[in-house]
Amino acid sequence: MAIQTINPATGDVVKSFDPLTSEEIDARLARAAAASRSYKRTTFGEREAWMQAAAEILEAEQADIARIMTTEMGKTVGSAGAEALKCAKGMRFYAEHAEQFLADVPLADPTQVGASRAFGRYQPLGVVLAVMPWNFPLWQVIRFAAPALMAGNVGLLKHASNVPQCALYLEDLFRRGGFPEGCFQTLLIGSAQVEAVLRDPRVAAATVTGSEPAGQSVASICGSEIKKTVLELGGSDAFVVMPSADLELAAEVAVTARVQNNGQSCIAAKRFIVHDAVHDDFARRFVDRMAGLVVGDPMDDKTDVGPLATEAGRDDIEALVKDAVDRGAIILYGGKPLDGPGWFFEPTVLSGITPEMRIHFEETFGPVATLYRVPDIDAAIELANGTSFGLGSNAWTQEPSEQDRFMSELEAGAVFVNGMTTSYPELPFGGIKRSGYGRELSDVGIREFCNLKSVWVR
Ligand code: NAP
Repeated sequence: MAIQTINPATGDVVKSFDPLTSEEIDARLARAAAASRSYKRTTFGEREAWMQAAAEILEAEQADIARIMTTEMGKTVGSAGAEALKCAKGMRFYAEHAEQFLADVPLADPTQVGASRAFGRYQPLGVVLAVMPWNFPLWQVIRFAAPALMAGNVGLLKHASNVPQCALYLEDLFRRGGFPEGCFQTLLIGSAQVEAVLRDPRVAAATVTGSEPAGQSVASICGSEIKKTVLELGGSDAFVVMPSADLELAAEVAVTARVQNNGQSCIAAKRFIVHDAVHDDFARRFVDRMAGLVVGDPMDDKTDVGPLATEAGRDDIEALVKDAVDRGAIILYGGKPLDGPGWFFEPTVLSGITPEMRIHFEETFGPVATLYRVPDIDAAIELANGTSFGLGSNAWTQEPSEQDRFMSELEAGAVFVNGMTTSYPELPFGGIKRSGYGRELSDVGIREFCNLKSVWVR
């Protein structure tokens, strides 16, 4: 894939970049390794000052970087600005809490192990490669970079090939915040160049946010090198609506949860599983709201849904919908790409989904919702769990006993009850099953790329 900014709203190539040569990659790896040796000795106070300064720059520049994000991957400019501000918040969160999260963990009674002092100490692993997707071009990176840098690790970013300007901005942001040279570098490289970087002994670990094939490839290479990985992969989140739910609120949130980021979020609600008693009422409210969305220029503040980020992504969605309709799915709204330039697809609601259809099992990375009718909570949970993915999940019910069942029985890295699945700096984030392993965010996320060293003193 060429490293290019292509405006998804027009299909125009805006800017092209040459991938780094192997000599250039080597120079950056050498810089990262050198930076790591001294950076790990910096204090939390120093790192906090640099991180806060970078957050401040990002806040001041949010409108400018938002336009770049929108130009590169088509998200609405308002949501791009909000993403930039969320990043700044995440950076401040780790700036303020890293020292506490990584404090020594003392053994209550060291004499049990024959020591006068015994404790665990978190230490950085070194240089970590982050392979990142385009869909939240700043946030996906920041939620790796902020904790990693605060822990004393050094970051290398291999960003998606369609967001090179965002990738370069991030390197520049950390440099301007004051982080020492080489602490955070962008590698403008294609995915075929990743293996050599992973196998380089100067790289200690890797994190991938992206598709299953990308995760499999990076994890298997790192496995053969015995290097730690964290994988944040795809999702097909269930959104279950039970009879006691606030249907109006559920329908409103359902639309946002499905079409946020033009339908391209790993934790978007993708499968809407509704109890028979409220199915038709919910479906009517949901379809009405989907039909009311404004699709168009993502630079226009009035737009709700912009284009898909790539032509291939739009073609994938079209093929998934066609396959479903060919096999008997019913289109309740939408169903086709928009005429004209750019990679727009109508907000779409499908019902009558069966297991013969690809859309029943595959991730729908676009503004297309599938609607299912179920007779009871057992059927709802079985259907929700009948997927290879296990990222987020959503349940709508006022009944405490039902809430408990969803909390315990939904197979996912997160369950949100009566609200939208969202990533927060304060909450662990990650998946199970084929959605990946490991956690980002919160105190747990910062420890993923640390060595918890056991210390024993006589
Ligand atoms: P993708 O094609 O896997 O790309 C993600 C990144 O991986 C890009 O930097 C890509 O580089 C790189 N890549 C692709 N194949 C690779 C390989 N074989 N070896 C090494 N690197 C490789 O995914 P995407 O289409 O950009 O993103 C959408 C997917 O990401 C969806 O499945 C979505 O659910 C998932 N996602 C998950 C989370 C989460 O937190 N769980 C968050 C956001 C998105 P190139 O661009 O150069 O190909």
